[in-house]
Amino acid sequence: MDAVNKETDVIDPDRSQQLVDALTRKGVNQPCPRCGSRKFGVVDEADLRLGGTEHPQAVLPTVVVACDNCGFVTLHATGALGVPELEAAVDG
Ligand SMILES: [Zn+2]
Repeated sequence: MDAVNKETDVIDPDRSQQLVDALTRKGVNQPCPRCGSRKFGVVDEADLRLGGTEHPQAVLPTVVVACDNCGFVTLHATGALGVPELEAAVDG
């Protein structure tokens, strides 16, 4: 995967590279399904809150990747990538 870090990226560059390396190891190298571009960037990491009202504490750590051309966003579960998770900054 060709990754481009832009000044607008909010993630730490070292962490971003770690995630890009992990995605590359997993063979994440297909072009954007919407526009065909091969330029992507790791935008940030985000915890998806799962479980609704039954298990409101369940979260799924993800890596947010966006196409540099059209902005198509994909999420990869961090746990599948074999990289250490960041300490969650939970507010509340
Ligand atoms: Zn695209």
